Amino acid sequence: MTTMFSYRNMKLPQTIERLPELAYNMWFSWNDDALELFGLINQELWDQFLHNPVRMLAETHPDVWEPLSKDSAFVKQYEKVIRQWDEYSSGTTWFQRTYPEFLHHQIAYFSAEFGFHESLPIYSGGLGVLAGDHCKSASDLGLPLIGIGLLYKKGYFNQKINKEGQQQAEAVSYDFSRLPILPALDDQGQELKVQIQLADRTVQLKIWQVLVGRVSLYLMDADLEENSQWDRDLTAQLYGGNQDIRIAQEILLGMGGVKTLRALGVTTAVYHINEGHAAFQAFERIKEQLDAGLPFHVAVEVIRASSVFTTHTPVPAGHDAFPIPMMEYYCSSLFAKWGEYKQGWTQLGLDASKQLFNMTHLALNTSALRNGVSKLHGQVSRDMFRSFHGNIDASEVPIAHITNGVHMNTWLAPELKKLYSRFLPGTWATNQTNEDIWKQLEIIPAESLWDAHIQLKEKLIRYVRSNLREHRRRNDMPADKVEEVRSYLSAKALTIGFARRFATYKRANLVFNDLERLDRLVNNDDRPVQFLFAGKAHPADIPGQQMIREIYRVSRMDRFRGKIILLENYDMNMARYLVQGVDVWLNNPRRPYEASGTSGQKAAMNGVINFSVLDGWWEEGYDGTNGWSIEGSNGADNEKLARENTESIYRLLEQEIVPLYYNQGKLPVQWVSRMKRSITTLAPVYNTDRMVMDYTNETYIPTLKRTMALVTDQYDLATKVADYKNFIKANWHFVKFLEINDGSGSRSVSSADAIPDISKSTKEVTSTIKFGPIWYKDTVVELLYYEEQPNHQWQQVIVTMNAVKELDNRVVQYSAVVPSHLRHGSHFSLRVRPVSPNFATAFELPLVTTL
Ligand SMILES: *Cc1c(COP(=O)(O)O)cnc(C)c1O
Repeated sequence: MTTMFSYRNMKLPQTIERLPELAYNMWFSWNDDALELFGLINQELWDQFLHNPVRMLAETHPDVWEPLSKDSAFVKQYEKVIRQWDEYSSGTTWFQRTYPEFLHHQIAYFSAEFGFHESLPIYSGGLGVLAGDHCKSASDLGLPLIGIGLLYKKGYFNQKINKEGQQQAEAVSYDFSRLPILPALDDQGQELKVQIQLADRTVQLKIWQVLVGRVSLYLMDADLEENSQWDRDLTAQLYGGNQDIRIAQEILLGMGGVKTLRALGVTTAVYHINEGHAAFQAFERIKEQLDAGLPFHVAVEVIRASSVFTTHTPVPAGHDAFPIPMMEYYCSSLFAKWGEYKQGWTQLGLDASKQLFNMTHLALNTSALRNGVSKLHGQVSRDMFRSFHGNIDASEVPIAHITNGVHMNTWLAPELKKLYSRFLPGTWATNQTNEDIWKQLEIIPAESLWDAHIQLKEKLIRYVRSNLREHRRRNDMPADKVEEVRSYLSAKALTIGFARRFATYKRANLVFNDLERLDRLVNNDDRPVQFLFAGKAHPADIPGQQMIREIYRVSRMDRFRGKIILLENYDMNMARYLVQGVDVWLNNPRRPYEASGTSGQKAAMNGVINFSVLDGWWEEGYDGTNGWSIEGSNGADNEKLARENTESIYRLLEQEIVPLYYNQGKLPVQWVSRMKRSITTLAPVYNTDRMVMDYTNETYIPTLKRTMALVTDQYDLATKVADYKNFIKANWHFVKFLEINDGSGSRSVSSADAIPDISKSTKEVTSTIKFGPIWYKDTVVELLYYEEQPNHQWQQVIVTMNAVKELDNRVVQYSAVVPSHLRHGSHFSLRVRPVSPNFATAFELPLVTTL
């Protein structure tokens, strides 16, 4: 036995003996009573250890436990938490009630990063927090879901900002025995390891387990003595290193992840990849099928059917792509064994225009169901990947959208949970997607909501001051400069927050475009405004770091001192303070670069009002009454857009936001109604319970059903579908339009002397089509035209043509009835496309013949 010591096995006095069980389950991170419990051990240590309960167990003096086990307040809190935990972990769930027949099929969820809590630093920003929130709601709803990721020895990085405002990436090295993770064990109780072939060698991976409520996440760790130093460093840092490290990391994540699932022996039926980083999972699974004797095209069909892909990147440059020889080098063992399909493998990820192996292409080609993360991002993705699917309208591209959400129990302030519990029906938290429940928020007295909000703002201000003090002490500033921060910020002033990764498209420095105008806003004695900024820039992102320097420089100007503030080391802990404690959440990305954004959703449920560009989720969340929209013309160049957005920001602040906030003295009733409006309209929708239910209903369950149908009876249907596709692809060139009769000399269905009415006057269009070896019933023939909508948008109308006559030689005549003013060529076109009831989506094959 080589099982490592973990504090999970620690012996504690009997009255508090289950503390380790609580410490090793991330459930503590979204249960306010559990968080409070660990704070009761020693509040100072708890804060110093970044709320890491395992460090509390490990580093609390052993003499403390005995008296604590007799401390009635502590034991009472402990028992309360244990009771909740037992209820939580044994209760029946939404998934059990809704899909009892699917309980035994696991859904594997792959992500390069997971953000659960500040105590487990394996995330960099929104993508990771989304993955963490996804797992938490999956646990709450009882989904049979397993997370797969990497364990980074150095995490992402700790951000320090020096006296010049320069970001410094502080390297940290985590002691895994002090994190809320455990070595995963096999049946014999041995530590679980998997091996993966990388280029010319074998890399060993140790598997760690993170318990997330009822869900488990498995993390792979290459930092083992058996591996070379280069290989050990593959899991050193999230998004660190060059292209070689990046592709190797992604191979570990995708292929290693599949091996981990196999080593665990779990029956996995759905493989969901959160962004393209894990797309190599398809390679490993295709290889498994080849090893089991399936032909390549059938293997791809099976893997495709069971994969779900969520894309997050609305710009082509944001997608990982590697030189093809690099991919071939790192996957050489795959090609050594299955080299006969080399072209097939490469084709799966080929970006022909750049001759690169693109992870998003791989993900799209190997996932039957794909989605973007907001309504707008769905559209942008359909536009971006239209060429993948032949000559079709962007609206038909098979990429759907499921809008992101956030985990309410994680992000909603304890103070507000208590308040909502007093006024909303008892089930509000478990029924958070029910809009009717949220309408009752109206009955909360304005004073109560405002008081709770002010408390949260004061808490935030204390936190900010201590963050600044720490920064100044470290930078050796004189004592009076350190103490000066005590006077910074006021709970009475309108407070605006901006915090997120400092990627350039997010334009953190946009409000600094006119410092004079900003000065007038900030330094208005009667109606002051203050700003808080926080965020990390990727260590290789020089312009992002330049933005940090600029914010720092402005914050140090005399006129903005103590009113515009830059905080260092943005993490989930700081995020909670900010999204719960400011008045307004500012978000001004360059549209449409923000796929969704989630921090504004966290703010919204806390009564913080969104002030944002209509990008990502806000484009659908904003209804004209629940926040503000920063305007700018679509399609404008970057500079023009920045000018317009800035102008809109100042104008709205000056004319609407500041006056609304200050118009009523002590209790700003109108402001509070706006807060309520924001909570009632947004909280029931932009949460991960709604999101995970959408994923379940729209992707996981359909994927499960279709996969099961494809693989039963020795892959019978999978083989048929794959063969059918090959046959259609090989013979599609035979499909030809022979003739069209566009029905000139239109017939009117109305009587001859009636007033002509274009909408009622129709005609028949006929066309003859030659099919060659393809059976005409394996296709559909459609007539397409565009119709102007009442909102002046043009929308595609599709009329299915009927086969009316089978002529010789596989030639078939089709007919349709359409408005008589339509002319072929200038108004409408015809198309033939292959169909099958066994396709997952209408445009599975990029084969469309048009006339
Ligand atoms: C929520 C969150 C994000 C995502 O912020 P966006 O506004 O969506 O970019 C990033 N970092 C942390 C620490 C978060 O909590």
